[in-house]
Amino acid sequence: MDPSARFSNRSAGLRASEIRALFAVASRPGVVSLAGGMPAAEALPGQVLARILGEVAAQPGALQYATGQGDPVLRELICTVMAHEGVVADADDVVVTTGAQQALDLVTAVLADPGDVVLAESPSYVGALATFSAHGLQVRHVPDDGGGLSGPAIAELVGRARGAGRRVAFLYTVPNFANPSGVTLSASRRAEVLAMCDRIGLQVVEDNPYGLLRLEGEPLPSLRASDPGVVYLGSFSKILAPGLRVGWALAPPEVTGRLVLAAEAAMLCHSGTAQLAVARYLADEPWTDHVKALRELYWERRQTMVGALSTLMPRGTRWRVPEGGFFLWLSLPEGARAKEMLPRAIREGVAYVPGTGFFANGAGDDHLRLSYSYPEPAAITLGVRRLARVVREAADT
Ligand code: PMP
Repeated sequence: MDPSARFSNRSAGLRASEIRALFAVASRPGVVSLAGGMPAAEALPGQVLARILGEVAAQPGALQYATGQGDPVLRELICTVMAHEGVVADADDVVVTTGAQQALDLVTAVLADPGDVVLAESPSYVGALATFSAHGLQVRHVPDDGGGLSGPAIAELVGRARGAGRRVAFLYTVPNFANPSGVTLSASRRAEVLAMCDRIGLQVVEDNPYGLLRLEGEPLPSLRASDPGVVYLGSFSKILAPGLRVGWALAPPEVTGRLVLAAEAAMLCHSGTAQLAVARYLADEPWTDHVKALRELYWERRQTMVGALSTLMPRGTRWRVPEGGFFLWLSLPEGARAKEMLPRAIREGVAYVPGTGFFANGAGDDHLRLSYSYPEPAAITLGVRRLARVVREAADT
């Protein structure tokens, strides 16, 4: 068989994640990984979940096929979680998914055709870029004027794309503690973006896996809280455990119907055991106390990283302190290139993700993403010390 005849054109859009490739080197003994955005080992309630998983396995439904939309009790409980983000939701509009990543894939399948344009932040979540590429979409990054997304920048890109005869499927945004930038969209920008998208008829997809992990400052209502037309993606990966693979989409009823059909076509139904375990955890365990403890844990790690960066990084290195989430976006001094520096950094015993992974157009080599969620504070300081040495050398040469 002609090898090129075997594959679909779309499969050529599948991209290896720079982060996955980094996992192997970053987990070598002696390397401090500031690369992966994994929850802290201490953040995963293993004992509690071991007990719950054992109990629910014996419950009716746990081991059977179920509906494509997800367990109704879990969907009700997901609505109570979203109430903490200011969202009033109806369980009928919730679809349970295999993590927010699958929600993103299903939403993309339902809203976009190959060749469509999708708008995303500069920079944007690498897993979303992979999904968009796999679906044959063209990503346009909305320029960041220092405050993240803005109405005029969105209107300009949409106007240009439509002028060139392209359909613009949606705007994808992570408004709270974005991955990788750590940026939180201000209240006035949220209103501006929603008003502009409404005016130009652009669907908004809000991805909010870190919203409850605010480390300081006042919570801002999610975009979905102000506009029921927004498609909202949520996840238990950061507040409970990514290994359970439970996330969800909340969408207007007409979108929900198609999401359920897409979910059934993709996987029939989501794991009954995982759904019942999350439902039992939310109903019976003090989950808001757990989230509070996570905020304290990540606050300490963020403080450690910011403190180490301030004392150790060479002049010309810049960053914004994230108000929550897992990530810090570092702007390198003149001369230092993130990709070129990485092998040297690994030799020195520290790993990070080069900024290029977060742009569809190869930009971002003057930035890198650091994560403070997984390493313990002493390792964070050691990792930043090693990184500072590598950055200083790279900037000098
Ligand atoms: N969206 C963003 C912004 C993320 O950072 C992640 C996880 N890295 C996801 C979605 C996917 O999360 P899940 O584990 O729920 O699939």
